[in-house]
Amino acid sequence: MGFLSVGVFLNEDMGDYGEYTALPHPKVVVNSIESPGFQLTLLHELLHAIDDVYDIGLSEQGVRILEQSLGALVRDNPVHSLAWTKALCEANEDPDA
Ligand SMILES: [Zn+2]
Repeated sequence: MGFLSVGVFLNEDMGDYGEYTALPHPKVVVNSIESPGFQLTLLHELLHAIDDVYDIGLSEQGVRILEQSLGALVRDNPVHSLAWTKALCEANEDPDA
């Protein structure tokens, strides 16, 4: 993420919540990718990481609003979201790789 890497780890004992560990060694721990709600939980914890890394000052409610809004944006526009994600990934590909 930006100039700093944030590790993402899976822990099947996490239940329905995730955990963000702040700087200087930021990491996100979330439940299995197959658990219900995994996608929004991961997004929620990554928003905490962005908030921390860039010192935005989001409240917990602000993180929840962004989590729900961004999740709905992707969920309600699957075709465009996939195309956007594909284009973004291709734009960042190393042509020499
Ligand atoms: Zn939170």
